[in-house]
Amino acid sequence: MVAELDRSVATLSPEPPDPDDAGSPGDADAGLDLADNERSNAVVGAAQEQLKHVRAALQRLDAGKYGRCVDCGKELSADRLEAKPEAARCMSCQEKAESAR
Ligand SMILES: [Zn+2]
Repeated sequence: MVAELDRSVATLSPEPPDPDDAGSPGDADAGLDLADNERSNAVVGAAQEQLKHVRAALQRLDAGKYGRCVDCGKELSADRLEAKPEAARCMSCQEKAESAR
């Protein structure tokens, strides 16, 4: 399970900035570049968000609390952990947390 989380973290590590962005001559396609930037920022943002969850899961693992819902303390099902190893909550608490947002 630890190895699996480690792999998730490795896969999700933020990528270095796109070198194509630096020093392109002429601004004729600046609008296009901007759109590309925004799109890749969104992708990196989503990856970083998930990385945050994975790191939090690793911290819970260290604390011996991994695999338990942070809200109700119930053990998460193996199915749930397989589908989402970084899950912090059981399905019902997750739904409550998301609808409370
Ligand atoms: Zn719960």
